[in-house]
Amino acid sequence: DIRVRFAPSPTGPLHIGGVRTALFNYLFAKQNKGTFILRIEDTDQNRYVPGAEEYIKNALDWCNIPFDEGPGKDGGFGPYKQSERKDLYRQYADELIKNGSAYYAFDTTETLDAHRKDHEAKGKTFIYNWHNREKLNNSLSLTPDEVNSKLSSGNPFVIRFKSPQDETLHLTDEIRGDIKIDTNILDDKILFKSDGMPTYHLANIVDDHLMKISHVIRGEEWLPSMALHVLLYRALGWNAPKFAHLPLILKPIGKGKLSKRDGDKLGFPVFPLQWEDPKTQDISSGYKEDGYLPEAVVNMLAFLGWNPGTEQELFSLEELIEKFDLKRVNKAGAKFDPEKTKWFQQQHLQKMDNTILSKQFETLLSDKNITTALDLNTIITTVKERATFINDLWSLTQFYFLSPSEYDEKAVKKAWKEDTPILMHELTRILNDITDFSENNISSIVKGWITGKEIGFGKIMMPLRIALVGSLQGPDLFQIAALIGKTETIKRIENAIE
Ligand code: GLU
Repeated sequence: DIRVRFAPSPTGPLHIGGVRTALFNYLFAKQNKGTFILRIEDTDQNRYVPGAEEYIKNALDWCNIPFDEGPGKDGGFGPYKQSERKDLYRQYADELIKNGSAYYAFDTTETLDAHRKDHEAKGKTFIYNWHNREKLNNSLSLTPDEVNSKLSSGNPFVIRFKSPQDETLHLTDEIRGDIKIDTNILDDKILFKSDGMPTYHLANIVDDHLMKISHVIRGEEWLPSMALHVLLYRALGWNAPKFAHLPLILKPIGKGKLSKRDGDKLGFPVFPLQWEDPKTQDISSGYKEDGYLPEAVVNMLAFLGWNPGTEQELFSLEELIEKFDLKRVNKAGAKFDPEKTKWFQQQHLQKMDNTILSKQFETLLSDKNITTALDLNTIITTVKERATFINDLWSLTQFYFLSPSEYDEKAVKKAWKEDTPILMHELTRILNDITDFSENNISSIVKGWITGKEIGFGKIMMPLRIALVGSLQGPDLFQIAALIGKTETIKRIENAIE
């Protein structure tokens, strides 16, 4: 059975790297008829941000990648929040101590800092492992009696993993292939603290095991932890899941990892939520708020590290489920490109059904207190290809609903001549006499009139456009006139002449 998990820590809003991890897990699960699990890794109480869990769930919902199992959706492997599993972890730490794979350490922060400084002075780095663990204050250097008395007198302790000496580990990553690790470079990571909480490493592998996770798909920043995790599975006599570490997401320009400063849309996708912790990032703007479609964002995210190996760039979620392949995920970092994201948005808006688009546009209009008898479907069709966001539909079509409140200065300078008012006045009389006020009919009558007068088309069409639209932009003029109707057309021309 394929079982994968997205295991965020609720420390604030997700950024695109987190959502990309969720998406790749989701795609892999769905493709293999497997299970996509959400696990909240909240063992670090200092970094906990209230509301973050809701935010994460909302983000997954918005992207249309719901979890099958997780908080509130028990599939028999819950609870899915580590804080609610607290009592479970100690026994595994104890088991590791019993079988010699872990030990108690009583070193204070001060003595460890002193060791670090000491090493630095000699140009060395202090690593707590085989090299010096026997000289430090722990159950490997103390007698059993000393250890017991420290424990029973409530001395603060941590439980550290005893990483092996002189061994070469052969690891396999689904994306990176074979990796060799010399265990001498590993440090004895802390697994458990005397506050009763496990560290990320212990909780993570215990939960992956108990939740029967088959594949751990996560960001490259966790690759250095893979050796420890594999060793922990071994020490507990468990089979390790398969691992796949997704490539870093890089800045659009220059070198390095993507950071908040590289774009204002990294808080992702943002929902109106009150963050009680002032330390957290500003999340007033995100993809959702900026009018991006979830389909476009998902499509963009899928290409951060993956490609189908064909020319095809536009994918629906269903197509992604079908085509996604872990073997086609790159090792190299993926550049985040805000312009490309806009392109995906523009393309997905074009694909959107006009009826659905009309509904959303109607909401937008009613927010502006505009009621209209005009057919929104037709109006949208006239401008859709120039729109990237639903909001653009408003700026591209507002002249259908409102007569211009001002006229573009440059346009007026270019097109409004001395004789324009007389010609426009004459035009209103021509228009007034038209009974069948349809696009084709207006067009042929007005064009016939212009031809008869032997003046250039621009002399009429440009001022008419200014009168109806306010500028020299917009779709076919006769189409506009027909849509807004005779009375409104004439009224707008008269307004312009005044
Ligand atoms: N809680 C870790 C994080 O926030 C999960 C890492 C993992 O997937 O193992 O990224």
